[in-house]
Amino acid sequence: MLIVGGGLVGASLAIALHDSGLDVAQVEAAAGALPPVFDQRNLSFADATVNALTALGVLGKLHAPAPPIRRIHVSRQGDFGRVVLEARDYGRDAFGQVVVARDFGQALEARLAELPRLMRYRPARFLGIEDGDAHGRRVRIVDDTGEHALSARLLVGADGSGSAVRDALGIDARRHDYGQVLFVARLRAARAPDGSAWERFGAHGPTALLPRGDGHFGLVHGVDAADADAVAALDDDGFLERLQQAFGWRAGRFIAVGPRSRYPAIALRATALTAARAVLVGNAAQTLHPIGAQGFNLGLRDALTLAEAIDAHRDDPGSAGVLAEYARRRAEDHARTFAFSDGLARITSDPSSALGPLRSLGLFAIDRAPWLQAMLVGGAMGYRGDVPRLCRAPA
Ligand SMILES: Cc1cc2nc3c(=O)[nH]c(=O)nc-3n(C[C@H](O)[C@H](O)[C@H](O)COP(=O)(O)OP(=O)(O)OC[C@H]3O[C@@H](n4cnc5c(N)ncnc54)[C@H](O)[C@@H]3O)c2cc1C
Repeated sequence: MLIVGGGLVGASLAIALHDSGLDVAQVEAAAGALPPVFDQRNLSFADATVNALTALGVLGKLHAPAPPIRRIHVSRQGDFGRVVLEARDYGRDAFGQVVVARDFGQALEARLAELPRLMRYRPARFLGIEDGDAHGRRVRIVDDTGEHALSARLLVGADGSGSAVRDALGIDARRHDYGQVLFVARLRAARAPDGSAWERFGAHGPTALLPRGDGHFGLVHGVDAADADAVAALDDDGFLERLQQAFGWRAGRFIAVGPRSRYPAIALRATALTAARAVLVGNAAQTLHPIGAQGFNLGLRDALTLAEAIDAHRDDPGSAGVLAEYARRRAEDHARTFAFSDGLARITSDPSSALGPLRSLGLFAIDRAPWLQAMLVGGAMGYRGDVPRLCRAPA
């Protein structure tokens, strides 16, 4: 089988399939040691993700510490609602862990290097699909030696939001632009991270702080797209002042900020997850607003579910049985996780004052209703729908 894309989800899938005994090839377009997606963004790994990546032998390869999230604070600028979720109230040590994407990429790479059966084409770009037959797909790729054709019984599109595989399969995607730009940076505050993750919602976007292992916070600051260039042009002092206003003083005074990178806030949903002898996983299937920190967590569950479906139909990884099982098992998690992230992004970013009381009521209600909290926490920890086996805690 052939995986197009060696980003977070494609690399995880290749590792999950290694013991399947199948011949697996991977095509990754990026040159260099790591694809650019392994950048300075901070990834919050849900509990289910931590379990799975540990079982896959990836987390053990991290060089930097991955601090736990023991507490989540959610609040909104100018409103009275506030929620504090404590992991220990749910019998847990932590809701998840924080890993810098670059460190994660290095750990994945170290694990991939241990997989002798995996055939890696990189840098090589997927170009399109040729006429195949009922038994497989024929795919065209290009590398520095020219164009080649590859055959696979199953083609996996793990090539991100702008998926060329999705286009080549003729699968449409519905796209939503939230009209926000997210700035990501390392931030030092007067108070060192203490296991708290903070989400603060402002009129034009969220400001979130995640505890990092290097004494800094991982910052995400969402701004209205129309203001993004002006915010990018601020010097460090101006940016820190803006952050302090947006976030308040809960983590103390903000002292220093590292280089900023920016991302457009978009969401995307493919209209189908499968086509004949082909599936979509990760961002190619569904891209989420980063606010809920769910994107990779969701995509990893795609990869693990696909690996399980293939294991259940070992004779043919691209059979109709695999495709049907994959699509059926992913439906609930996709719908609920999308609704969670999209709802959070919209209700917290809509500047219309009419929503103000409702938003506060939302936080207030969550604070008062343990069942609602438990539902939220279960989802945020990665236990939605039909959970893959490796996501469960070892017995
Ligand atoms: C600011 C920010 C913060 C985030 N924080 C979190 C978080 O806290 N928790 C979380 O779970 N998620 C988070 N996410 C989401 C997470 O980054 C994505 O869900 C994840 O990157 C998706 O992985 P993927 O492998 O599907 O796609 P990608 O990571 O985009 O990888 C796609 C790969 O395909 C390759 N490719 C593309 N086209 C081709 C082609 N034609 N041929 C060959 N290769 C190709 C690319 O080079 C790339 O390596 C965040 C995202 C952002 C932007």
